[in-house]
Amino acid sequence: MNLRPSLSSRVLTISALALTTLIAPTTLKATSNKTPLVHVIMTVDWEGRNLSPTNIAAMQQLRQDYPTLPILHYLNAAYYFKSGANAEQTTDTIHSTLLPIDQLGLHIHGWQSLFTAAGVTFRNQPNWNPGGKPLTDAECASDCGHSIPIRAYSEAELSQVIKFSIDTLSSHGFGRAQHFRTGGWMLSQRVSNALTANGIVSDSSAVPAEFLHARLYNYPLYQWAVQTWTGITQTSQPYLLNTKHGALLEVPDNGCLADYMSGAQMLTVLRANLAEAQASGEERIVVVGFHQETAADWLPHIRDFLSGAFALNANGQVVSFGAMPTQL
Ligand SMILES: [Zn+2]
Repeated sequence: MNLRPSLSSRVLTISALALTTLIAPTTLKATSNKTPLVHVIMTVDWEGRNLSPTNIAAMQQLRQDYPTLPILHYLNAAYYFKSGANAEQTTDTIHSTLLPIDQLGLHIHGWQSLFTAAGVTFRNQPNWNPGGKPLTDAECASDCGHSIPIRAYSEAELSQVIKFSIDTLSSHGFGRAQHFRTGGWMLSQRVSNALTANGIVSDSSAVPAEFLHARLYNYPLYQWAVQTWTGITQTSQPYLLNTKHGALLEVPDNGCLADYMSGAQMLTVLRANLAEAQASGEERIVVVGFHQETAADWLPHIRDFLSGAFALNANGQVVSFGAMPTQL
């Protein structure tokens, strides 16, 4: 299926957003009374692979340096089902990166551990890694399935895993997720139906596939992203997807994630949206983010982006950081 915007792009009203004025670290003074023109939503995908102290520390440092920057965490229940996982420790580790201003959402990859725990028979294909071969028993010795798009599963199976994930995270104090991003950006109609069946109101899987080309051109995932997200660009805005259980708000990940984008590239996205906002007089949304599992490697890109955003403010243009909306 093609998940192009079915409606003309509509921008959000300020009232639909919980806005937080962009405030730089205490050493920087970047405030303005002007109405924000571009709202940036900072996201992090928790892959469900591991919780290494190095990456957790990198996230904690970012939170200390930018205490007023809200982040939408797409959390993953898979950590609780790894062999030898300590639930209390897992909860504490995740919590150690959170701030009260954050939002908590859901991210799912096709982990064998998670799907099995949810009572769903694991599928070892299709595989989005180069070569695309089914995962072998050896590859699955500890856990596997990150590279299996969850849309390979039936709607009933997906609903079971989504409900199980929400219940798991909720039982550990992370609330009931309303916001979602699909592993590998691999949304489909079946996934969308299963999301709204479980109370999810927004998804941020739409991505400009061109941003993935440099690192993923030889991955089946890249071709799938091209096919799935035809028409999605760096200035694509929120739109509604029809599902069996009502509309799902699709908020494009138009600034992609830090593993694939330098800070300068993310700033190019910000400037393009700022130009459109200034031309139209309407607010624009920019979504950017990173992965918990590679935070130590790629948070420097996010820091570069944040510095550039403050520079834009210093030039009299206005950017704010806000929460993911729940409606158009
Ligand atoms: Zn992911």
